[in-house]
Amino acid sequence: MKIETKCLHEGYVRGNGDPATLPIVQSTTYVFDSTQHIADLFDMPTECMYSRFANPTVDAVEKKIAALEGGVGAMCTTSGQAASLLSVLNLTKAGESIIAVSSLYGGTINLFAFTLKKLGIECIFVDPEADDAALEAAVKPNTRLVFGETLANPALNVFDIERFAAFAHKHKIPLIVDNTFPTPILCRPFEWGADIVVHSTTKYMDGHALQGGGVIVDSGNFDWTNGNFPDFTEPDESYHGVIYTKEFGKMAYIIKARMQLMRDLGCYPAAHSAFLLNLGLETLAVRMERYCRNGEQVAAFLASCEDVERVSYPGLEGDPYHERAKKYLPNGTAGVISFVIKGGRERATKFMDALQLASREVHVADIRTCVLHPASMTHRQLTDEQLVAAGIDAGMIRLSVGLENVDDILDDIRQAFEASR
Ligand SMILES: *Cc1c(COP(=O)(O)O)cnc(C)c1O
Repeated sequence: MKIETKCLHEGYVRGNGDPATLPIVQSTTYVFDSTQHIADLFDMPTECMYSRFANPTVDAVEKKIAALEGGVGAMCTTSGQAASLLSVLNLTKAGESIIAVSSLYGGTINLFAFTLKKLGIECIFVDPEADDAALEAAVKPNTRLVFGETLANPALNVFDIERFAAFAHKHKIPLIVDNTFPTPILCRPFEWGADIVVHSTTKYMDGHALQGGGVIVDSGNFDWTNGNFPDFTEPDESYHGVIYTKEFGKMAYIIKARMQLMRDLGCYPAAHSAFLLNLGLETLAVRMERYCRNGEQVAAFLASCEDVERVSYPGLEGDPYHERAKKYLPNGTAGVISFVIKGGRERATKFMDALQLASREVHVADIRTCVLHPASMTHRQLTDEQLVAAGIDAGMIRLSVGLENVDDILDDIRQAFEASR
């Protein structure tokens, strides 16, 4: 099946007389005819026995996302943050370290730099364009993974997945990629060598600003028996001595995440959330195509505007990441654009307040066009000088282009430029 078809037909498998649409199984638990049957499920979790481990509605969505990314299995979580955290905790413990590129979603940076540190896991940040020597200098004997983001939020740089996969594999460690902005419709990191993918499904996958969620997807390709990951190859004393690579083969990573981390930390999504996420996924391919086309037109318009100092959008010719975008994101770079308005902070605020169609909100990758002013919102604590150091101009606006008719979006931007002059 092609990816558009997978969006509709993967996951929920219908039998004769079954509901046409994915049913919401609103039950914490499941009943069985024998004690032995349940005991067997603890050995080999092939059916749902308790909704913290698995629920049929959530399971169908996990199977769909795994199929879209080309992975062997997936695990949904309550948020993108939870997915990032669990993806790392599944491979590391106190006293070990990870490498992450510095152009990541701000929430991921906080998680890695501060919260992981409190848990005893050190994160070494590297410039995503660092030369080989600088990358090698970040590797320690206890480094357990490399982490990057395909299309960074909000920097909008394109991550060189193939290069970082080769770097990680040279050191016998996996590459985890946050693929939130492209979604598997625009980029499938496993095809470029990534081993694990995470998403905030809160963004384009849900797409309608309905509910938060996250997912971890396992490619099944990494060799956990290479000596660096004893937790995969030695008996798990918390799970009656299971050896994950022996029992579960290619599914070792995702089953370990479920049976250790979801079991103990419990951040599992509700069936109703999975149902809503599935609705978003059904139209994902159609929506992503329109986000890209609208984004391209709006970015080109902004680049031609007297009112604009600069535009960041990898889909735009002349953008520093345009060539790399052609390789990894050949069908488009979604709908998120950053631009700097002439006139600094004051003009940016005026412009935003003058918008009539686009809404001012703390969100991105929504079905409706929305805007955010990093300097007074997400990066509010920084002074204007610190903002410059962080690469954020006081006049920078992050515009998330939605699915409205592009002429209406452009008209709104035009009138807001005028009103703010
Ligand atoms: C929003 C976001 C996250 C965090 O997701 P939540 O669902 O808000 O927890 C992680 N990564 C990226 C790229 C994001 O945009």
